[in-house]
Amino acid sequence: MCYCSKCQVLAKTGVACPSCGSKKLREVQANDPVLICTADELKCSMIRAAFDESGIPHEERMCGPGAPPSVLYGRMPSSLYHVFVPYGEMEHCEEILIGIGVLGENGTSKPDKVQTQEEDLESGSMSRRKRIFVRIASAIAFLILVWVVVTLADTCINFIKSAFSNLYG
Ligand SMILES: [Zn+2]
Repeated sequence: MCYCSKCQVLAKTGVACPSCGSKKLREVQANDPVLICTADELKCSMIRAAFDESGIPHEERMCGPGAPPSVLYGRMPSSLYHVFVPYGEMEHCEEILIGIGVLGENGTSKPDKVQTQEEDLESGSMSRRKRIFVRIASAIAFLILVWVVVTLADTCINFIKSAFSNLYG
């Protein structure tokens, strides 16, 4: 299996890196970090917990904001992460990811666009409660924010009033 050491991805075709197109590939080593999947914050924390439990070294790197539609569903905008694991642990990791439902049964790592399909599936079943919870939590957070702003403004106005009454009164 060929490997691009710059992008830390496997080049399955063996001709060029699927990420940067570089042809400077080398044979992969067991301890090379390899991109296993791209996940949003929620999935990333699931993956992290599952890998920690199995004692697999892993690394997550933020790679940009999540899909804008997630905001429309009342979710907080989340960041996407690239998850890297050592090549030697890759098969084991794929099994774990399939086990927690992050990877498809075919075991191929998912590009970003497949993820939205999976989110559609999720919305129909198990994560509905989670979505509702997040919606309620963000509504409460918003109310708290409003309350803090109002309280701060009040304090500010009182402070200014007392400063003026000290000056002129
Ligand atoms: Zn590359």
